[in-house]
Amino acid sequence: MKLTLLMVLIVCGNVVIGKPSEAQEQSKYNNDPFTKPGIITPLTLPDSWPINIHRNPHNLSPDDTITKLVVLGTGMPLPNPYRSGPGYALVINGYPYLVDAGEGIWRSIARAALVNGDEFTLGLSPEKLQYLFVTHLHEDHTVGIPSLLLNPFKLNIPTSKEIYGPTGIHDMVSHIVAAWKVDIASEISDGYDPEGGKATGHDIDFENSGIVFKDDNVTVEAFRTIHGRLEDTFAYRFTTKDRIVAFTGDGGPYHQGIVDAAMNADVLVAEAATEENILYAPWGGDTVAEKKKEIFRFHFSPTVLARIANEAKVKVIVLSHEQNYNSGEEYDALGLVNEIVAAGFKGTIYSALDADVY
Ligand SMILES: [Zn+2]
Ligand SMILES: [Zn+2]
Repeated sequence: MKLTLLMVLIVCGNVVIGKPSEAQEQSKYNNDPFTKPGIITPLTLPDSWPINIHRNPHNLSPDDTITKLVVLGTGMPLPNPYRSGPGYALVINGYPYLVDAGEGIWRSIARAALVNGDEFTLGLSPEKLQYLFVTHLHEDHTVGIPSLLLNPFKLNIPTSKEIYGPTGIHDMVSHIVAAWKVDIASEISDGYDPEGGKATGHDIDFENSGIVFKDDNVTVEAFRTIHGRLEDTFAYRFTTKDRIVAFTGDGGPYHQGIVDAAMNADVLVAEAATEENILYAPWGGDTVAEKKKEIFRFHFSPTVLARIANEAKVKVIVLSHEQNYNSGEEYDALGLVNEIVAAGFKGTIYSALDADVY
């Protein structure tokens, strides 16, 4: 089967080699041909248009820090092909601590390494992928977990996984391991190290906040927050020897827990949804009033995020998981950033792309 596929690829490879079309050469991103949509559906929203990806990934992390925030995925459930599902790695002293595992995380890790060079190739190496902290159990933040577990195992890498998250993560992880038991057992019977196929979920059930994890590199604290109908959601605060990096998880209304998690943070990884252009959101109701009521139960408005970040004296917001809707002609890649600045945020804010480093 594998040999046949390889032969097909070789044959096809001979056929498709040729001069790129003019349209491809004009494309700013990935050389993708692009057909401007006449019909807008969840597959063709303006934020997914390659002409609306406004720059290449960048590394803006300070040279002298041992704590590097690698943005693996900035997407949301809508299927933007240029944004993997939400996922981040804090690489501290060359060792990775992952936050959330959205769709495509394994490939995003490779992309971040290819874009950013040897330091990150080593810092994200599959042997070191051990710790994951999940903000909440919505599928867009967890659907990458099977891939994070099983793809390194396919390389016979003997690193078991420790996964922290709200109540339910223990069951989710055990069920994932059980769901792939046939594959895992067959690799083990072929001589693979069983350690690589193991994963343990650790339920966090603090009433408000507490320390989840501590080692020589980092102390990780979780703070309870509110996110729509979910009972258990957490923001995380990572304190290292030289930086504080916090993650809001998905938002909603103002909550003191997020302010506490983000207090004096060097970097706050946050999400938000547009208020100005919420009429273009493909969910949340029919009218602007209905959409505001529903969407801001689940996500920060620019006003709420600016208030939280100012109260916490956050220096830098790295905006991800953006819901930056608009019509095709009016789309502005920095539209949501500008709304948060207009709402009064006093620090620096970046609209993150996959493979950025801060
Ligand atoms: Zn969510
Ligand atoms: Zn989400």
